[in-house]
Amino acid sequence: MTDALNQFTVVTLFPELIEAFSAVGIVRRACERGHVVVQTINPRSFTLAGTGRVDDAPYGGGPGMVMMVAPLRAAITSIRERGPATVAYLTPQGRRIDQSLLGELTRINHLVLVAGRYEGIDERVIERDIDLELSLGDFVLSGGEIAAMAVMDGIIRLLPGSLGSDLSAQSDSFTCGLLEHAQYTRPEIIDGQPVPAVLLSGNHAEIQAWRQEQRLSRTLTRRPDLLATAKLSEADQAVIAEMMTKKEDLGE
Ligand code: SAM
Repeated sequence: MTDALNQFTVVTLFPELIEAFSAVGIVRRACERGHVVVQTINPRSFTLAGTGRVDDAPYGGGPGMVMMVAPLRAAITSIRERGPATVAYLTPQGRRIDQSLLGELTRINHLVLVAGRYEGIDERVIERDIDLELSLGDFVLSGGEIAAMAVMDGIIRLLPGSLGSDLSAQSDSFTCGLLEHAQYTRPEIIDGQPVPAVLLSGNHAEIQAWRQEQRLSRTLTRRPDLLATAKLSEADQAVIAEMMTKKEDLGE
């Protein structure tokens, strides 16, 4: 164990997925700089007499298999014995992850992410060994590893120094309460499609105003629910009111 700012341990039957994830991009850089440690632990290493058996049929009948208590509990206990840790189970039945929850999770020094497989894990593990349950959304994946990677990626990019500029995360969708503005890069024109002229003007104030209007109009069109909680200035509210009037006039 190290004194890294943020430590993640993924309890998984497929550690190779997590190893591949932490070997690229922002996550790899954060690990190399010692800001983050990503480890895995395989419940299969905690099976009785090395049988390798981690699942069994569900009591009461029905399709599929259920991950057994003993290997999972032993894996989690071995982590807790090494120091304080918060243990989260990735499950479609958990609290839905959003940007503000990821912000809260950055404060956890050692986050253990338990990835289920098959029909899920024995409920007694959830009752006794799990501190929180996290969901990626209202859909079902075949394993918790993708959800664990999503959680780690979302947290790591919020940590100071992870991104090229810490301002990147601040202007991201949801962080500012709105969706982000559209982005463009070179060339100025491609296949007859120009970049909006204001972005080439060099006028910083006009660019900021254009971007804010973009955030507001995109959010109004795509995710109006976000406007209820977004912090809007009086000027923002006036822009939204004008956009809504225009929409009404067009009968949208
Ligand atoms: N039978 C379970 C149910 O209906 O709630 C779903 C089991 S799913 C096929 C197998 C594993 O994938 C789960 O144990 C969980 O770890 C993971 N998983 C599936 N969907 C997920 C989601 N939306 N968010 C987080 N983890 C998910």
